[in-house]
Amino acid sequence: MKIGCPTEIKPQEFRVGITPNAAHEAVAHGHEVLIQSGAGRGAGFEDADYITAGARMIDTAEEVFATADMIVKVKEPQAGERKMLREGQVLFTYLHLAPDPEQTRDLLASGATCIAYETVTDDRGGLPLLAPMSEVAGKLAPQVGAWTLQKANGGRGVLMGGVPGVFPARVVVIGGGVVGTHAARVAAGMGANVAVLDRSLMRMRYLDDVFGGTFKTAYASAATTAELVAEADMVIGAVLIPGAAAPKLVSRAQLSTMKPGAVIVDVAIDQGGCFETSHATTHQDPIYDVDGIMHYCVANMPGAVARTSTIALGNATMPFMLALADKGWRQACTDDPHLLNGLNVHAGKLTYYAVGKALGIDV
Ligand code: NAD
Repeated sequence: MKIGCPTEIKPQEFRVGITPNAAHEAVAHGHEVLIQSGAGRGAGFEDADYITAGARMIDTAEEVFATADMIVKVKEPQAGERKMLREGQVLFTYLHLAPDPEQTRDLLASGATCIAYETVTDDRGGLPLLAPMSEVAGKLAPQVGAWTLQKANGGRGVLMGGVPGVFPARVVVIGGGVVGTHAARVAAGMGANVAVLDRSLMRMRYLDDVFGGTFKTAYASAATTAELVAEADMVIGAVLIPGAAAPKLVSRAQLSTMKPGAVIVDVAIDQGGCFETSHATTHQDPIYDVDGIMHYCVANMPGAVARTSTIALGNATMPFMLALADKGWRQACTDDPHLLNGLNVHAGKLTYYAVGKALGIDV
């Protein structure tokens, strides 16, 4: 099969869909890998790395789309890219169609077979192609929060780990899933005093078993959340209710109970955020102040560490990409119901129930 990877064109996107390692594996499986020249540069991969891996460099995105049987990307195809998709071609990338009727319409019109990373599942009920980005965002959250806590950035001027004779920062993580666990581990590793709030007792049992000595857990009742938020130097929002907007767990009125210069890192901002005062920001202008509380609400945090994110995503997507290329999408999805769950659009038809429900289209 000819597997094509164009340069990402969405603003501020530095990741790339195929790493040199993934290209090398695909070539070893007998496939031809076509990479747009320069596609890997934002993630620190040069054309020479791909050539060494056995890939062929292609000058333009047009040629990649025209030649490849399967396109592997990171972000949803932009309007110009959607025009280049064709019937029978496979697209394997993040799509996030539910809030995006325009993209859905174009993908249906293209006739292509579109498999979305974000709806591929695993045996444990997880989302294996979303998890690596949650791991990255979780580990970044205390790092960016610590920077925001510095006085010059509007923060309280508190050092995460304290020093002998001075208490460390108090960090509260709301939501103890993938993002929250990674955030709590890093914050605790920096020496902070960390509490994780969740509403799943099963999840808290797991966290307590594994990390009991590293950070504490508490049930996320409204009263406990309010109490811990008021005492915190940093609050990290990491909740998820699958398929729904994030619940607002901290109101604007509650900000007045917080310490001046305390920091909110709302990782859940890509689902609308779990603080009433959150709105999405960018890497160029990541923080803002509401009532003396500093907010960091970047919606695509993994983009800040494009190289780590690209390699992490590539590790997770590679087995699925190889299955699609080796067997063809139909057989690969027949053999693996988890990959089949990724199928969102095929030959002009929507094939994913939740997207159809959100957009009012028959599935
Ligand atoms: P997850 O499903 O692994 O974890 C979510 C956790 O939230 C679960 O443990 C759940 O029990 C808990 N929860 C749900 N409702 C709660 C409530 N009312 N109070 C307390 N806890 C509650 O999800 P995840 O992968 O950790 O993702 C968390 C959020 O981070 C999602 O919104 C995701 O989209 C977002 N995210 C953002 C970025 C970014 O760049 N900003 C990157 C990756 C993920």
